[in-house]
Amino acid sequence: MNVSVVLFTSDLRLHDNPSLRAALASGDEVVPLFVHDDGIRSAGFAAPNRRAFLADCLADLDAALRDRGGRLVVRSGDVVDQVCRTVSEADAVDVHTAAGVSGYAQRREARLRAALEATGRRLHVHDTVVTAVAPGEVTPAGSDHFAVFTPYFRRWSELHTRGVHKAPRTVRVPDGIGSEEITPRKDVAGVSEGLAAGGESEGRMRLQTWQLNGLADYAERHDDLAGDATSRLSPHLHFGTLSPVELVHRARTSGGPGAEAFVRQLCWRDFYYQVLAARPQAAAADYRGHRDQWRAERAAAEDIEAWEEGRTGYPVVDAAMRQLRYEGWMHNRGRLLTAGFLTKTLYVDWRIGARHFLELLVDGDIANNQMNWQWSAGTGTDTRPNRVLNPVLQGKRYDPDGAYVRRWVPELEGLEGAYVHEPWKLQGFERAQYDYPEPLVALTEGLARFKRARATH
Ligand code: FAD
Repeated sequence: MNVSVVLFTSDLRLHDNPSLRAALASGDEVVPLFVHDDGIRSAGFAAPNRRAFLADCLADLDAALRDRGGRLVVRSGDVVDQVCRTVSEADAVDVHTAAGVSGYAQRREARLRAALEATGRRLHVHDTVVTAVAPGEVTPAGSDHFAVFTPYFRRWSELHTRGVHKAPRTVRVPDGIGSEEITPRKDVAGVSEGLAAGGESEGRMRLQTWQLNGLADYAERHDDLAGDATSRLSPHLHFGTLSPVELVHRARTSGGPGAEAFVRQLCWRDFYYQVLAARPQAAAADYRGHRDQWRAERAAAEDIEAWEEGRTGYPVVDAAMRQLRYEGWMHNRGRLLTAGFLTKTLYVDWRIGARHFLELLVDGDIANNQMNWQWSAGTGTDTRPNRVLNPVLQGKRYDPDGAYVRRWVPELEGLEGAYVHEPWKLQGFERAQYDYPEPLVALTEGLARFKRARATH
């Protein structure tokens, strides 16, 4: 009897999963394994919202495997130790897993390969599981990665995308391989009240609804803050309950400007993955530094706290920060505005904002979070690193009647027109009706500080 192990990481799905497919093809029986990795926990990356979403994903994956005659094996500890233990209990020879991107994932893969090979086993690492196009698949002349999006997108679009694999009909798991219980979502403390449900079944339902009802209008509506007209598939992409290759195929099959714009966003995801794969240190260090002397964290503590709690006095910034806390998710336009506000208007180090986002975001992802923060701070891949988004103008443009602000900032309920975005313009009695803070800093003052800081170097 030939047994293989498939180690699930950021690919918690049965549909279109090349690692699982290869494991099933190479073995009579397969051990579908997930390890709660001590390394991820001790790095502080296991935030409650993502643990809760993960709990849904594991329960759903286990149920789907059971429907096919199998089950999920769950273990905790050092991932390499746990895989080796499982391999020896199952007397398996081959281990299949998805290629990771971050420095941590790259080191994990190297350790695992060495440990398996030392005992005559083999590790098979599969591309196009976590990304649509593998990092490094296309490179510009003279570099190991693209630093600018548009030329990357051009090359990425020209590539042939592999076909989509169906979910297996049966999965045979050997007897006698012990598993931990899957922690139910309700046992995870500190979870955002409005957190979405996880799992492949949920992801596929969302995808179906999105393809029928959202995709066609995406190009016009993706920046409409109140309209909430983006796919909200990011947590499913992060946990791999949906396949990026399948999403690209589905969108291209639908066609039209909405689908084109959506595919372009999926390419942004691959873009940042290929940047991080080539420069893993960009998770913590400036990708393109300007020798910023950010305000000291202690000196800026009150501003940082007001930003985190949604009390900056800029309604659209506060609305977005409160959405993040309540849902563990934020609209992309909100992420751009709040990140730009922290780094440029308040001149606070992007790492502080990125850390707060990672504490709450259900889709919190090293590549997308850190590289987007760097983009917003002007230390990353933005070709106009010193651009500053004005939260009042952005609010008027992307939330013209203030519905998004009123949804998340109830103190401003009843306010209409331009005042929603500039409540400080109200006078006397009218102003006194609203219990809402004054702006932390005048935009002109913030802008002058940022310009001084960047111009001096
Ligand atoms: P849609 O608009 O429906 O887009 C579809 C998919 O394309 C997304 O699910 C996502 O996978 C990808 N995508 C869209 N925009 C981007 C982008 N700018 N960069 C990379 N991929 C993108 N995204 C994360 O997945 N995890 C993060 O931790 C994360 N942190 C961010 C932090 C900041 C400061 C900023 C500005 C953006 C961040 N993003 C992050 C990117 C983007 O905001 C989210 O992917 C998007 O809002 C998710 O919503 P959606 O699924 O409805 O997106």
